[in-house]
Amino acid sequence: MKKLELHWQILIGMIAGVLFGFAMNQLDWGEQFVADWIRPLGTIFVKLLKLIAIPLILASLVKGVSDLKDISKFRSIGLRTMAIYMGTTLVAITIGLVLVNVIQPGVAIPADTISKLVDTYSGDSGVTSKLAEASMQKERGPLQFLEEMVPDNAVYAMSDNSLMLQVIFFTIFLGISMLLVGQKRAKPLKKFFNSLNDVVLKMVDLIMLTAPVAVFALLASVVVSSSDPDLLLALLKYAGVVLLGLLLMVLFYCVIISFFTGYHPLKFLIKISPAQLLAFSTSSSAATLPVTMERVEEHIGVDAEVSSFVLPVGATVNMDGTSLYQGVAAVFISQALAFDLTFPDQLTIVFTALLASIGSAAVPGAGMVMLVIVLEAIGFPADKLAIGLALIFAVDRPLDMCRTVVNVTGDSMVAILVAKSVGKFGKPKIKNSDNQL
Ligand code: ASP
Repeated sequence: MKKLELHWQILIGMIAGVLFGFAMNQLDWGEQFVADWIRPLGTIFVKLLKLIAIPLILASLVKGVSDLKDISKFRSIGLRTMAIYMGTTLVAITIGLVLVNVIQPGVAIPADTISKLVDTYSGDSGVTSKLAEASMQKERGPLQFLEEMVPDNAVYAMSDNSLMLQVIFFTIFLGISMLLVGQKRAKPLKKFFNSLNDVVLKMVDLIMLTAPVAVFALLASVVVSSSDPDLLLALLKYAGVVLLGLLLMVLFYCVIISFFTGYHPLKFLIKISPAQLLAFSTSSSAATLPVTMERVEEHIGVDAEVSSFVLPVGATVNMDGTSLYQGVAAVFISQALAFDLTFPDQLTIVFTALLASIGSAAVPGAGMVMLVIVLEAIGFPADKLAIGLALIFAVDRPLDMCRTVVNVTGDSMVAILVAKSVGKFGKPKIKNSDNQL
């Protein structure tokens, strides 16, 4: 019997997880049961993916850089990538702002709905911790991100997944130095990293074998701990605007892919679907990164030289879904709490959401922390920030799941675009969309 393709297996796992979660919600002890017996399966899976993220970045980026024939190519890959990342993020914010201003989901929300949402969530530890994290972020000086990109200890950088940019910095530095010492002297090291790359990609395949069960566990956990359905309904229009925006963004990627590379958009979506489904289930572009890299390199045919740089950098700095959401959420909160926004305020949102999405960590809920900074930039009253966050908190997790899908899709699209533009888009190693074991 023909084995079901991986994306179908994952999808079935997700649907079963949602149904199971709903069934458990009917039982009094359901949440505890899921926490004790089901959630750990999902947590272990996410830990495994994070476990291999740093070795994969290291191996594949060293391989990519040291394979280059000349360094100037690397500069052109870097510049193109950053320019396209900024461009797509600006498109995302613009789409979000146009939709939220036209549809106005925050206008005329009944006062009792607002007070119910605020009563439920403003004292919530989730909202409080987001505000605390945001105030820590704010204290960073303008050039601090550059300072933070340079590690003073490579081993320490590799020990912390949130220091991915430091690992990238070190790895590029290492790869360039390997190029400079010449093929002959760098050969043993190169061989080592090439082999490490192959082995880690195999580890991704092996971890992905457990993906259907893991997404079942992840989604069951999300469903049992999700909010009051009445409050979710109150935010339906706002969530609808974010989702519509995200959908338009995916359409935009499809148009760009087919126009500039000739690659069939449907094929693109099918090939990266396991990464998208994992992004949805884990709400983390960082955890999804190993799978995104594997799909884009092995299944779509982007050369490691490009994908090993574009994707890890993208996972940390390019978050189109997050920036779109931040634009919509900032205006929605302002509408709902009757805070007037001028046109310059909206331009401030464009600028700060661009920076905020770059600064958002690739982990669940990070976009909301940086939303605080967007709100502060438009002069939103400090005493109302907690109320603003409380207003959108109920739907944040489901929206996070969806915006992470767009973040990962955007990174993959840019990897293909850049690869095509520098002649590094070839035949994929793996033709069918399933794992090769
Ligand atoms: N969860 C998102 C990501 O990992 C970030 C966010 O929007 O919260 O890409």
